[in-house]
Amino acid sequence: PRPDEYRILHEADLRDYLAGLPAIAARLGGEPASWSIIEVGDGNLNLVFIVRGTAGGIAVKQALPYVRLVGESWPLPLSRSHYEYLALTHQARLAPGLVPAVLHHNEGLALVVMELIEPHVIMRRGLIAGALYPNFVGDIATFMARTLFFSSDLALPAAQKKEGIAAFAGNHALCKISEDLIFTDPYREAEQNRWTQPWLDATAAAFREDLDLHAAISRLKLKFLNAPEALIHGDLHTGSIMVTEDSTVVIDPEFAFYGPMGFDIGAVIANLLMAYLASAGHERSPGERRLFEVWLLETIENVWTEFSHEFLELWRTESHGDAYPLTLFPGTAGAARLEAERQAYMARLFGDTVGFAAAKIIRRILGLAHNADFELIEDAKQRAVCEARSLRLARAMMVETFPTIGAVTKAAREIR
Ligand code: ADP
Ligand code: MG
Ligand code: MG
Ligand code: MG
Repeated sequence: PRPDEYRILHEADLRDYLAGLPAIAARLGGEPASWSIIEVGDGNLNLVFIVRGTAGGIAVKQALPYVRLVGESWPLPLSRSHYEYLALTHQARLAPGLVPAVLHHNEGLALVVMELIEPHVIMRRGLIAGALYPNFVGDIATFMARTLFFSSDLALPAAQKKEGIAAFAGNHALCKISEDLIFTDPYREAEQNRWTQPWLDATAAAFREDLDLHAAISRLKLKFLNAPEALIHGDLHTGSIMVTEDSTVVIDPEFAFYGPMGFDIGAVIANLLMAYLASAGHERSPGERRLFEVWLLETIENVWTEFSHEFLELWRTESHGDAYPLTLFPGTAGAARLEAERQAYMARLFGDTVGFAAAKIIRRILGLAHNADFELIEDAKQRAVCEARSLRLARAMMVETFPTIGAVTKAAREIR
């Protein structure tokens, strides 16, 4: 085959391919035959290999022409690898150190070679084990504030913003997965849906008939479809975040496109809320995870507070976009009015964030893709108790008004 003709790379083929890339071969070191290659992909879609030589390691991600979780019956374009590459390089410029460096990519092979992130663990795994990550809030707030602000109309001239939208518009098959699996299927009978039976049968049925919920999720779906506010990561759950105690790295932006900012912020908050509500199911002795749970709720509050603080600060100091021309806001009165506009923008964004967070929780409990936070609770009845609380909280978040993040964490603390 031509070097860039698509084929699924198995170990021997991958070894030969990498040996033909001088910079990569040098980074690994030693003879290609001595490199260790293991496939570690634990996600729903792709292959990921960790390759190690005498000098160092790399991660190699290859897209498959179908959804790994489901199989060949569900085809998915290889072009998602190109969008992942574009998003990774864009994020590396805007949020240096918070994403893996891209070392090589091959569009034909749907392949990205990246810096090996170690000794990090997938954050979801750490949270299930009850680990605290003191630097996480500062890092994720910076990642979101910078990637979202600098790709928005607050920062960019209109022509550049529109070029950005165009560059990611072809990623619509990945968007469609979100449109179906997050915003539609959990609320109707769909073959792929599943939930913890029989305990959640009644709730699942109620959600399929709940018109208040259907109106709210449809409003969110419309926003997902028609609000190209910024280049969003698109899959920012705790399985896409790798952590140590003092470092945070965001991976897996293959769902990236210009969409609503609240979808990313909501994903982070939803996954922390699920870690909190699943925590009782991982307790081996009563109260064992108290400190962790307190830290999680504080972290949820701080994610929003620090994000909004950083975002507003960027808006005040780095706003070169075509939105809000300064000539329209002269003098002290103008400055005050502009600041009021910024506050109103953040209030609207917070409302979006709460709604998208709720949508992310519901899809993980009633839809196709579940998460380990709940799945690893072995006692199904205990799992259902945690999931039912999460669904009650999410429903409230979707249809009621939560003015502050403190109101969200208070509701999470009090949910029974
Ligand atoms: P998918 O799109 O299939 O979900 P991911 O990009 O999330 O694939 O990668 C799957 C797994 O591979 C991650 O959970 C992580 O364990 C590992 N992985 C991915 N990229 C890296 C990297 N750069 N360094 C170390 N491990 C990685
Ligand atoms: Mg992943
Ligand atoms: Mg920070
Ligand atoms: Mg992925």
